[in-house]
Amino acid sequence: MKDEFFANAPRVRDAAERIKDFKEVCLGFDAESARAEATRCLGCKNAPCVAGCPVGVKIPAFISLIKSGDIQGAKRTILMDNSLPAVCGRVCPQETQCESACVRGKASRPVSIGLLERLAADNADARPAPAPSNGKRAAVIGSGPAGLSFAGELAANGVEVTVFEAFHKFGGVLVYGIPEFRLPKSLVAKETEALSRLGVRFVKDAVIGKSIMPAQLVKEYDAVFIGTGAGLPMFMGIPGENLNGVFSANEYLTRVNLMRAYDTNADTPVFRAKKAVIVGAGNVAMDSARTALRMGADVTVVYRRGREEMPARREEIKHAEEEGVRFELLTNPVAVNGENGFVKSVTVISMRLGEPDASGRRSPVPVEGSEREIECDMLIMALGTSPNPLLVSAFEGLATGRKGVITVDENGMTNVENVYAGGDAVTGSSTVISAMGQGKRAARAFLKKIKLVP
Ligand code: FAD
Ligand code: SF4
Repeated sequence: MKDEFFANAPRVRDAAERIKDFKEVCLGFDAESARAEATRCLGCKNAPCVAGCPVGVKIPAFISLIKSGDIQGAKRTILMDNSLPAVCGRVCPQETQCESACVRGKASRPVSIGLLERLAADNADARPAPAPSNGKRAAVIGSGPAGLSFAGELAANGVEVTVFEAFHKFGGVLVYGIPEFRLPKSLVAKETEALSRLGVRFVKDAVIGKSIMPAQLVKEYDAVFIGTGAGLPMFMGIPGENLNGVFSANEYLTRVNLMRAYDTNADTPVFRAKKAVIVGAGNVAMDSARTALRMGADVTVVYRRGREEMPARREEIKHAEEEGVRFELLTNPVAVNGENGFVKSVTVISMRLGEPDASGRRSPVPVEGSEREIECDMLIMALGTSPNPLLVSAFEGLATGRKGVITVDENGMTNVENVYAGGDAVTGSSTVISAMGQGKRAARAFLKKIKLVP
C-alpha cells in the first residue's frame, strides 16, 4: 500500500496499541521492501543526495550494495562517514537533507535513504577495526553525538581517547531526551560499546568544571573537544511560570527517559498529569507530547505559528496526531493560572501571521481580544535551549558568543590552543547529524595538525 510519504512504506505499530507502552513505533523496512526501495535509486553520477548529507555518506554506493543483498558491505560503506548509522537512520531529518535533494523526489517520492540506512545498520555487524596507538591522547567533554563522532574518528586513527560524561549514561540527548519509542536506548548503548571496542575509554559521573577542571585536561591531553550540548532550557517569562506543574521539556523528558520514570518499578518521581499542554512544535515538543500521552495525560500542543512552520519532523507530527495529540495552532500562552500553587489552566491568545520580512519569514502577531483559557494541570515548555554555562564559566579565557555558544573557526578550533568544540554547544540546539558533522570536522583538523591525514 502506498503511503503519503513513502513509495514503499515502513512497518509502523498501530496507534491504539503503541500508546500503551514505550516500545519503538516505527519498525523500519522488511527485507523485501528494502530491496524494492533500493531498486528505486538511480545511482545518479552527480549524487545530489550526498551533497545534502552533512557528513557526506556515500549514499548511491551503500544503496547499490543493499540492492545486491550485501548488507555488511552497505554498513561498512556508511561507517566510513557516519559512526552512528542506527541512530541517524531513525532520527535524522532526511526530508530536509539528503532526501530533499533526491532526483527521484522531482517526479514522485524521494528514495527513503534514512530507512535504508537504518536497515543496513540494524542487520549487519560491520565495525571499523581498532588501530594501533600512535601515542597521542585526546579528552572529550560530553558523550552526545558530537563527542562520540569526534571520539570515533580519532580512535579509528590510533589516538587514545577518553570521554568524560556528567550523567551516569552515555549518549547525551540520545539517552536523556529522545524517548525510547523513537530511539531504543539499547541501540545507543551498542554504539558506545562499539566505540569502547575501538579503544575509547568512557568515564561517567564526571562533571567537567566541578569534579575535574578543564585546565587539567588541557594540560594532560594533546587535544580537548568540548561537546557539552545545549541543555539550558528557555521559558517564556509569562506570569505563573513558577507554579507547580510547569516543566521544561528537558526536565520532564530526562525524568521519564534517562531516569525511567515510565517504569513503575523505578524510584524517579514524575508528575502524572490529567491534562497537559505542550508549548512549541519542534521535535522536543512532539517527544514531550507523546511521552505525556503515554504517561496517561490528555495532550494539547500549542504553537504560535501555523502547520507549515512547525519545525518537527513531519513523521513525528503525523505519529503524534495518530496517537490523539490535539494541536492548537496560531495560539500562544500569555499567562499560567493556578490554584493552591498548582497549575489549573493556561490563558492563550490567537495569533495571525504578519507580512513576510526580507527573509520571507512571517512573524506571528497577537489577535486582540481573542484570549481564552485551556484547562490543564501540567504545562511543558519546549521552546529551545541554550548551552549550559557551567563548563564555559569554568574554562578560563574560552571565547563565547551570543547566548553563550562557544566560538570556533572553520575547523572547529576554539581560541584556546588544542581545544576544539562542536555540536549544540557551538550552534545552539540543532540536529544529531549536524553535531556529528562538527565532531568529525574537529577530529579531521586535529589529525591533520598531527600529520596523521593529509
Ligand atoms: P548533547 O546530545 O546535548 O550531549 C551533550 C552531553 O554533554 C550530555 O550528555 C551532557 O550531559 C554532557 N555534558 C554537559 N556538560 C558537561 C560537563 N560540564 N561535563 C561533562 N559532560 C557534560 N535531532 C535530530 O536530528 N533529530 C531528532 O529527531 C531530534 N529530536 C530531539 C528530541 C529532543 C527531546 C531533544 C532535546 C533534541 C532532539 N534533537 C534531534 C537534537 C539533537 O539531539 C541535538 O542537536 C544533539 O544531540 C546535539 O548533540 P551534542 O553532542 O552537541 O550534545
Ligand atoms: Fe539515488 Fe536519489 Fe541519490 Fe540519485 S539522488 S543517487 S536517486 S538516492
